[in-house]
Amino acid sequence: MSSNRFVIIVLDGLRPDLVTPRRMPNLAAFRAEAAVLRGSRATYPTHTRVNKSGLGTGSTPNRHGIHFNMIAGGDLKPNGVLDVGNYLETKDIAGLQTAVPLGEVLAAGGKSMAVIHCGASGAPNLLNNRAAGRGQHFLSLAGSQFSSPELWARVEATLGAMPGPAGVALERSSFAVKALTQVLYPEFMPDVTVLWSDEPDKSLHVDGIDGPISAAALTHVDDLSGEVIAWWHSLGSDAPNLLFLSDHGHVETSGTIALGKLFAETNLPVTTDPTKPGALLLPFGSGGLYLRDKDQSVLEDIVLWMQAQDWCGNLLTAGGEVEGAIPGTFSSSLLSLDHPRAPDIFFQLKRMDAGTNSRAYGHCLNAGDKSPTGSSHGGLHEEELRTVFFAAGPDFREAHVSEAVGGMVDVAATILSTYGISQPETMVGRPLGGLLRGGTEPTDAHAPLETFTVRNGTFEQNLSVFRLQRRSVAHHGWVD
Ligand SMILES: [Zn+2]
Repeated sequence: MSSNRFVIIVLDGLRPDLVTPRRMPNLAAFRAEAAVLRGSRATYPTHTRVNKSGLGTGSTPNRHGIHFNMIAGGDLKPNGVLDVGNYLETKDIAGLQTAVPLGEVLAAGGKSMAVIHCGASGAPNLLNNRAAGRGQHFLSLAGSQFSSPELWARVEATLGAMPGPAGVALERSSFAVKALTQVLYPEFMPDVTVLWSDEPDKSLHVDGIDGPISAAALTHVDDLSGEVIAWWHSLGSDAPNLLFLSDHGHVETSGTIALGKLFAETNLPVTTDPTKPGALLLPFGSGGLYLRDKDQSVLEDIVLWMQAQDWCGNLLTAGGEVEGAIPGTFSSSLLSLDHPRAPDIFFQLKRMDAGTNSRAYGHCLNAGDKSPTGSSHGGLHEEELRTVFFAAGPDFREAHVSEAVGGMVDVAATILSTYGISQPETMVGRPLGGLLRGGTEPTDAHAPLETFTVRNGTFEQNLSVFRLQRRSVAHHGWVD
């Protein structure tokens, strides 16, 4: 049993292959000394708020119920689309996440948790849902009204005005690190702290993986990491455990289609307007479609039409163990997605591998939701699924590489295991004991990689997945 603190730094969207000694020397040096989960993977859909909820609850979408950054409102917001990153819209919703938050489990065990976040106003609420009710601290750089008053006041008194929340602004993550090292940690001493940097994700989106804006963001993030590591070393024998994680990778964007318009040109009863009748389309590059009042026969018509389009990538519907109810679709339960709030179809626009069209990285079209250049994420390409997971400090092995299957979803269970606090039933992540001193790998650490193929006519799709005891971890999905 240990009582060591945890400081978790999430570098949004950082691909692990970008952490090289030349590009990111501070992080690369930290990795060399750390316990590394080499096969760390995001949860599909590889959207930020899905994975944020994975960190905040130690669970998958079939448990926490967050499938996209915006979800069809259902009972939470009838005839609407709920922006789960909007604090004012979500702070009082008891069932926003349907899995027990880590912060609640920690509080019951006498431990504190705090969050500092650079981006959306409601993001801290996904990392520690309804923290305000437990008196736990959270700071959103989006504004004082989205933060716990005491922490906000202390940060403002010490560091002055905060940078605004919109656009690419490297000073935001710099400010967040100062708020951690100069105010939150020394004054509040939380047992578990999560600091979420919106970079390099924001820059990668606008600029692609090798562009100059992204290069500057990667340098910036590495400098900040160096600052955190130096601060951590300065704490000496009181230093907490320090984790660097990312929530997903990126693939480049090689064009755009107007997905909503393409559906509108068919006779299918599909709309992107939640106030109109018909099946509701969330037109993301990796999005969903909710039948709502439409009967199941419509579902097959929609799937058949999508399967005939050359942009169509992986498709999942509710169904059996491997195949969904509609031929040529995978079952949403195969990727731990089944939930009363799940859409009736999960889709992604087709992903192309590095090398096609002379591109250095995997790439995809977007669906009109993001810029036609730059890069994106949300889908099942391996380059979107691979994530950073480096951990060091008193509880972690030094210079150790674990080949266990796992990722951000396992962090909560790992922390609880060090404190001897048992995990709630909804927490499907498991302690990554192989990273811990004296620990052992989970029994399903080396689950085999299985590849499945389903077909309908000429449409054929593939999925490689690790099936663990309590969840699945996607490795790669593709349509040739
Ligand atoms: Zn992200």
